Amino acid sequence: MKIHAIQTGTVAITTAWREGVGHGRRRLVHTLADRNWTEPLPIYAFAIEHSDGVIVVDTGETARAAEPGYFPRWHPVFRLAVREWIEPEQEIGPQLEQLGIGRADVRWVVMTHLHTDHAGGLHHFPNTEILAARPEIEYASGLRGRVRGYPNARWPSWFDPTPVNFAPDSLGPFPHTVRLTTAGDVTLVSLPGHSPGHMGVLIDEGERSVLLAGDSSYTEELLLRGVVDGVGPDERGERLAQERIRAYARAHPTVYLVAHDPQTSVRLAERRVLGQSALTPAA
Ligand SMILES: [Zn+2]
Repeated sequence: MKIHAIQTGTVAITTAWREGVGHGRRRLVHTLADRNWTEPLPIYAFAIEHSDGVIVVDTGETARAAEPGYFPRWHPVFRLAVREWIEPEQEIGPQLEQLGIGRADVRWVVMTHLHTDHAGGLHHFPNTEILAARPEIEYASGLRGRVRGYPNARWPSWFDPTPVNFAPDSLGPFPHTVRLTTAGDVTLVSLPGHSPGHMGVLIDEGERSVLLAGDSSYTEELLLRGVVDGVGPDERGERLAQERIRAYARAHPTVYLVAHDPQTSVRLAERRVLGQSALTPAA
């Protein structure tokens, strides 16, 4: 199974967003008030070449994000805490073409969640089945969704994702999973916290697993330190999701790939698994 990490431009966020300050809802206040910025971070989407068809995971951001008024100016998150840089040729559509992957080759688009930098490339997939967790679709839709920071007026008018309904079906420490492929080697894993319907995609490569973990943390190092971000509405959920990922990686060698870690593509290319020593809590 070939897995591609596709970088669709860069994003900078406040440092208190990448590494949450304080607890609960106050984290968001720190995120918005912080005047320190991260360096431009990659915005990754992924493509898995599978015998069932290509599985695209997230769609990255669109070059249109640079247009004035693309994001609502009244929204504090877009006004104060995020900046993005994307060129048209960096969008996911042209990059899939470069890889020799045509529109008709894509069997599913799986959305880890619906934040703008994951959903900006949706317009490249008008005829593909798009999957998102049911609670994510509900949370991100309508006027409430816009207030919560999902610029859903920018979604394509035809956007009508297939809801993924997670029921109890455990895979190791993950209590809610859905097998996606007929061979059972690609599994959707519910990882709520960063957003209510946040999920990961777990790929079984035999001797190791690859976890496309969305925004479960902004880097691998932050996962190992158990640091949650400064925006997720459910801090406890984020911690629990991170604990489960670490528990899974203790039992199975796992390559941990998140959307904004500068090391993601190197880790994928080298199949660099989460260090076992780092996963064992110090006594
Ligand atoms: Zn996100």
